[in-house]
Amino acid sequence: MSDLAARIESVQKRIKASANRAGRNPDSITLVAVTKKVSPNVAIEAIRAGAVDLGESRVQEAKVKAEAAIGEGYTPRWHMIGPLQTNKVKYLPGLFSLIHSIDRLELIRALSRRGELNGVTFEGLLQINIAGESQKSGCAPDECLDLLKEAVTAPNINITGLMTIPPNNVDPESARPLYKELLSIRMSIEKEGIEGLSLANISAGMSGDFEIAIEEGANIVRVGSAIFGDRS
Ligand SMILES: *Cc1c(COP(=O)(O)O)cnc(C)c1O
Repeated sequence: MSDLAARIESVQKRIKASANRAGRNPDSITLVAVTKKVSPNVAIEAIRAGAVDLGESRVQEAKVKAEAAIGEGYTPRWHMIGPLQTNKVKYLPGLFSLIHSIDRLELIRALSRRGELNGVTFEGLLQINIAGESQKSGCAPDECLDLLKEAVTAPNINITGLMTIPPNNVDPESARPLYKELLSIRMSIEKEGIEGLSLANISAGMSGDFEIAIEEGANIVRVGSAIFGDRS
């Protein structure tokens, strides 16, 4: 087994263990292997090693890797996890299975329009900036409800959950209260009973804290360096 395959397997085992600890079904948790900054060849090696969901933070980089993968006969699910400018939306149809970084009205409207033009429906998550860090993207918690109300009536876009990125921190435990907060935001939104809205997905947890995120309710974890090494 290659080193890469061994690291993917090790992360999968840790996901399973934390799901079991939390009394959750391990099969309900999706591992997104974050291939940003790795070469197309390494991304393809990860696919060969069993990765079926891959995350990228830049549209152009994702496109190059998706095309390389298609050239080898692979069509994994690509996830957009980085900040998204509206002028990039035209490249998205057919590229991503899930857009984790929807965070403002302008973007919701641009996706909806592009979806109508191309005859596709985008699936996405609402990114929330829970810690209120000024340099991070994501909407403020008190903006969520209005954005979701807009999204639910916009054609060709389907918001299926919430996503957050905690502050970079040496102590992974410091993310736990933020993940709890994310779940409580979901609960308060669900109480509103918005027709046609279901927030089944929670995208939270990275290499340093994905076990904590799973314990706190995440069903999608985005793991880069624990699989591919440090690329910064
Ligand atoms: C890079 C990135 C990750 C993966 O981070 P690691 O700490 O390397 O696992 C997860 N989510 C987002 C949004 C990222 O940009």
